[in-house]
Amino acid sequence: DRLRLENELRYAISQNELVLHYQPIVRASSGAVAGVEALIRWQHPTRGLLAPAHFISPAEVSGLIVPIGEWVIQTACRQLRQWQKKFDYPMTVALNLSARQFQHADLVAQIRTAIIESGIDPSTLEVEITESSAMQNAENTIFTLRELKQLGVKIAMDDFGTGYSSLSCLQRFAFSKVKIDRSFMADIESGSVNLAIVRAILGLCRDLRIDVIAEGVETAEQAALLRQENCRLLQGYLYGKPKPFLEVAADHAVTLLGQVHGRASASAAPLAVEKRTVHKPL
Ligand code: C2E
Ligand code: MG
Ligand code: MG
Repeated sequence: DRLRLENELRYAISQNELVLHYQPIVRASSGAVAGVEALIRWQHPTRGLLAPAHFISPAEVSGLIVPIGEWVIQTACRQLRQWQKKFDYPMTVALNLSARQFQHADLVAQIRTAIIESGIDPSTLEVEITESSAMQNAENTIFTLRELKQLGVKIAMDDFGTGYSSLSCLQRFAFSKVKIDRSFMADIESGSVNLAIVRAILGLCRDLRIDVIAEGVETAEQAALLRQENCRLLQGYLYGKPKPFLEVAADHAVTLLGQVHGRASASAAPLAVEKRTVHKPL
């Protein structure tokens, strides 16, 4: 069964069945889009649109994650450039890297090539890696992260709080961003243990000068609380589910153009309210 999936996946790469969806990351203060995270999907010929949970792990085992990852890097950089041209705005894109890709010697070269070919400013590209991925071969990870940093790419620790969460890890790998795992969003409104954890992460990162994104924000109450705790960046269904490039661009056209002309900065309305009004395709 695994072998069949592997073969299908190999075929999927050649048939362009893989697609990237993008989810907005917004500023807590204004609701304006700061960037997007690229999340892979597989438009399967018979099973429909498949989430990464259905194929990323077998792709890692088989090594197919390397060509898939390269496609993700190229596609995300190219679409980011289109985006930046359209809106004349330094939008950032974040992409996910798995452990296996990190151990692959070509990773830095792949990213460098994609940056050059697309013409993006490297500081508008961000890579996300989970703590457990980083720890799998820590020495090698540190070396690769240093090379990526030299390219000017930003590095974010994904799903923070779910791994070993050795706090020294934050310093050791020189992350520029931390994404608080969405499991901590449950019940934070009611002053739970999760709220204490979120506060601790925010405090630590403030002192270390590391930016924080809260993942999995689903309710206005959670957003208000995170804003009150001075969490600067928010991501979650409240602000939009992952969607195809053109749809996200259309959704956020007004906000993005507004920012370019300095209009959106005064607005404190959540993005969800503004986005209904836009239907302009890219
Ligand atoms: P992640 O990087 O932590 O991505 C966030 C996941 O949470 C996404 O699931 C997203 O759709 C989901 N999410 C976002 N906001 C909310 C919310 O408010 N509520 C809930 N319940 N969920 C929310 P998705 O797209 O299924 O991706 C799952 C994981 O697959 C990602 O977790 C990432 O680790 C991995 N992944 C995705 N794309 C790629 C890729 O291109 N390469 C690699 N290596 N891994 C990828
Ligand atoms: Mg991620
Ligand atoms: Mg995450």
